[in-house]
Amino acid sequence: MSDLTVTIAQSRDAILERIGAAAKTAGRPAGAVTLVAVSKQQPDERIDAMIATGQRVFGENRVQEAQTRWAHRRAGLPDLELRLIGPLQTNKADAACALFDVIETLDRDRLAAALAKAMARTGRRPRLYVQVNTGREAQKSGVEPADAAAFVERCRAEHGLEIEGLMCIPPEAEPASLHFALLNKLAGACCVEKLSMGMSADYPLAIRLGATSVRVGSALFGARPAA
Ligand SMILES: *Cc1c(COP(=O)(O)O)cnc(C)c1O
Repeated sequence: MSDLTVTIAQSRDAILERIGAAAKTAGRPAGAVTLVAVSKQQPDERIDAMIATGQRVFGENRVQEAQTRWAHRRAGLPDLELRLIGPLQTNKADAACALFDVIETLDRDRLAAALAKAMARTGRRPRLYVQVNTGREAQKSGVEPADAAAFVERCRAEHGLEIEGLMCIPPEAEPASLHFALLNKLAGACCVEKLSMGMSADYPLAIRLGATSVRVGSALFGARPAA
């Protein structure tokens, strides 16, 4: 095995161990939390080393970049699960449905309508998460916390979509715990089971506050190279 393969495997093992420990602290089974390996902007050799460890759930934030990275790898990996964790434009809904197994950034009615049509056209139904802008930041996507339950209800009743969970990206300058706790509370109001929250800096905390999946990039692969 190459040095890189060993390094990547060790880093993944360490993170899986911390995930297991945090889940245990929260009184949940280790398998209750999915590790999403955020592969955006990472070099090919790190991605292939990660695949070699057995990791099968990956997150990407751009449709086109994900197509370039994953279209050819997909064929040899029947159990691959690709998650879109970045903003989605309505004109890319077909491409996103064709490529992704999970879309975590549904945040407006126009996109819900576009995804419903894209699902009918492509015959694929990715699982869906609604992104909530828990920090109400102008530059960030996501529905307002106060609108989340009504939006999820419209997705179900008007757009015919199943919503699996909620996702958030807390503001960098605030304690993440407040945002994780808010998302957890909203999950109850929205009648969803799954919570996508927590990144490299705070995933154990997110798990203690109810995360069912954590999106970890740099702590897993190493820092993303400057573009
Ligand atoms: C990049 C990204 C991550 C991973 O960030 P790290 O700090 O590298 O773990 C998680 N979630 C989203 C939405 C991202 O864009």
